[in-house]
Amino acid sequence: MMTNHSFADLGFVSLVGAGPGDPELLTVKALRVIQQAQVVVYDRLVSQAILDLAPTDAERIYVGKQLDFHCVPQSQINQILVDKAQQGKRVVRLKGGDSFIFGRGGEELEVLAQHQIRYEVVPGITAAAGATAYAGIPLTHRDYAQSVQFITGHLQKNGAPINWHCLAQSNQTLVFYMGLKQSGHITDNLLQAGVSGDMPCAVIERGTTARQRVLTGCLLQLPHLAQQAESPALIVVGQVAELHQKLHWFQP
Ligand code: SAH
Repeated sequence: MMTNHSFADLGFVSLVGAGPGDPELLTVKALRVIQQAQVVVYDRLVSQAILDLAPTDAERIYVGKQLDFHCVPQSQINQILVDKAQQGKRVVRLKGGDSFIFGRGGEELEVLAQHQIRYEVVPGITAAAGATAYAGIPLTHRDYAQSVQFITGHLQKNGAPINWHCLAQSNQTLVFYMGLKQSGHITDNLLQAGVSGDMPCAVIERGTTARQRVLTGCLLQLPHLAQQAESPALIVVGQVAELHQKLHWFQP
């Protein structure tokens, strides 16, 4: 007798970006797949309101990391995804912001691909887009910024060293993720590379949430601003940061 395997038996992973905080910034597609999840594997930056959208009987697995303390090693997260998918489950891998922006989404997909597990990617609003929008800071602006760069503040880890001269080019916006602890280092390097100490900057803490705070000043003041802020926070350096005074609209 022939056995009929439907796709549903095979297991599937949706790699879903949950956006920066405000649950209403989920995409319609993200909402649908979360509502259909059997297993949700989630990170620290995913809000409770978004987790609550999953079916009550969905298994919820927290694999959050904290800055200096990796709760669950990446290899173990990968294994959980593989195991659950191989058990035939509809797995949602839920990450803050967008999974492909400083989210290790690529690493997890490589493992799924290796195990021939089917997957899809649902993009999310990355913090740089969401938090600046809610802070009234346009990332580009015809008068002030023709380009934007997203940079990880975990500068010492992996990869080639940052080319600060490239970052210091005029008319661009710099957005540092995970940069609070490195703010002194970032400031020194940008000044050395020729960015003016007067360059406007902003620190956006818990962007898009009811606890959003925006601290603004100039580059010379950045370490001081960063000291007053708590994670998760973004550092924005560039002329556009000044527009916050004029364009802010969000009342947390
Ligand atoms: N994949 C995520 C980024 C993960 S790295 C994304 O696309 O947004 C974690 C860093 O993102 C934090 O240290 C912080 O710099 C930034 N971040 C995430 N959510 C944020 C928020 N609501 N407000 C400000 N920064 C945020």
